[in-house]
Amino acid sequence: MAELVLKNVSKVYENGVHAVSDVDLEVGSGEFIVLVGPSGCGKSTLLRMIAGLETVSKGEIWIGGKLVNDVPAKDRDIAMVFQNYALYPHMTVYENMAFGLRMRRLPKAEIERRVRQAAETLGLVSLLDRRPKELSGGQRQRVAVGRAIVRQPKLFLFDEPLSNLDAKLRVEMRAELLKLHRRLKATAIYVTHDQVEAMSMGDRLVVVEGGVVQQIGPPLEVYRHPANVFVASFIGSPPMNLITCEIQERDGQLRFVRDRLALDATAEQKRLLQDRPSTERRIIIGIRPEDVREAEPGAREAIEARVELLELLGSEALATCSVAGQQITVRLGAQTATRADSSIGLRFDMKRAKLFDAATGKAIG
Ligand code: ADP
Repeated sequence: MAELVLKNVSKVYENGVHAVSDVDLEVGSGEFIVLVGPSGCGKSTLLRMIAGLETVSKGEIWIGGKLVNDVPAKDRDIAMVFQNYALYPHMTVYENMAFGLRMRRLPKAEIERRVRQAAETLGLVSLLDRRPKELSGGQRQRVAVGRAIVRQPKLFLFDEPLSNLDAKLRVEMRAELLKLHRRLKATAIYVTHDQVEAMSMGDRLVVVEGGVVQQIGPPLEVYRHPANVFVASFIGSPPMNLITCEIQERDGQLRFVRDRLALDATAEQKRLLQDRPSTERRIIIGIRPEDVREAEPGAREAIEARVELLELLGSEALATCSVAGQQITVRLGAQTATRADSSIGLRFDMKRAKLFDAATGKAIG
């Protein structure tokens, strides 16, 4: 049974802002769902409605088979971890974790058992007597997670919980949270604007823009088959290259042309386009930086481009190239002999290219 069901959920704030529009989502028991999208897209509003911290303008929210629209936050059997973990400064780690359980009047022995168990799970046993100011950022974040775990809720909600940590710690905590999730098999909704975090953590992603769900799916599926140009440009770093071309046909061969850039369509792409009205000549070609390669020297089909910027990252090199009046990012091997301000021959792996409707931005096929 789905642990969380959203039916047509919308939020219009009093100032008229449509923060969330008609969101439908079913989250299975034990699933780790990541809500991802740029700042202001409505992620937090959606999470806060699930938590009961914000009213729902339209639609239904079901948790554990129960309609909760009118159930107060404290009775929803959820635990939330925020970006600013807001620990009580005058309480010890133990007291911070025990506090919510005391408020619920759990027996003392049960509180003790749950806090000890969470402390062991999170590596906090030796820190139980410390106060928050005596902890590092990562340790504080773990206490905030501990405070959620001891509640043993039906649903964990995370609102950008790692964004206050430095880059290295963020990567470490990401791995810790994932391990924890595997162990607890808890259902979790995790909000982030960081697409790398989303890709690496989610069983499924819910990509949101302008309060509207753009795509729902496992990370690799979203990466490989973005539903529209927004998802294509948001998921993946560096993003997918999007090139507006004109469709031309010569001697039965379909080609995508932009100035002197001419790309041969594959048989599959030709099939996808055969039912389109012939008046629609424009199309957007989407191709990932790793699907554009450096051509062998002297290769006949190479497309000549200018390398404007070369970033040597150690394990790979990213080249920003200019071709047909457009910038294209290319992922090159670390050993590339290419230099900035030189020309380069490129080969587009058209089998991996995606097609998007130029008018609507929607994926074709
Ligand atoms: P995100 O979490 O993706 O950054 P939010 O859910 O915080 O986005 O905000 C979505 C939209 O709703 C934004 O345009 C924001 O300005 C607006 N908004 C958020 N909270 C309120 C509020 N309390 N009153 C009015 N508008 C709000």
